[in-house]
Amino acid sequence: MKDPDCIFCKIVRGEIPCAEVYATSRVLAFMDIGPVIKGHTLVIPKEHYPTLLDIPNDLGEELLDAIKRVGRGVMEATNAAGLNVGMNNHAAAGQVVFHAHFHVVPRFPDDGFKLWPPGKYDDMEEMERLAAAIRQQIK
Ligand code: 5GP
Ligand code: ZN
Repeated sequence: MKDPDCIFCKIVRGEIPCAEVYATSRVLAFMDIGPVIKGHTLVIPKEHYPTLLDIPNDLGEELLDAIKRVGRGVMEATNAAGLNVGMNNHAAAGQVVFHAHFHVVPRFPDDGFKLWPPGKYDDMEEMERLAAAIRQQIK
């Protein structure tokens, strides 16, 4: 899976500058240029995978380790009280850069940032039906 025009691949190759905060041989973390909250950092696999669903499992431990290290660093450096780790997968979910990336966002009391307002099912049966459908699709 290669994309010569991918902006994050260009960052990995050093063709576009970034404010790097952490790197291993397979993972890179750098500041998001348009932070939802100051300190917002991105953690990416260096290899080009479009979404979470494309990332090989054997990269999971290194990625999780990087997210935790960066998350702690972001919290300490910004004196944050909380941390959101999120990911947009596919355009319908708000993904704009199609190189998988985890958003690590420091949170503060009353910072005004709202995400995921709760919705509701018509009834519990609807939820159970969906749960059954999802169970059936998990391979
Ligand atoms: P997405 O909506 O795809 O989950 O998030 C893409 C993120 O990448 C956005 O938060 C955006 O601010 C960030 N971004 C886009 N282009 C660049 C760039 O050239 N450099 C950096 N550091 N961040 C970028
Ligand atoms: Zn890429």
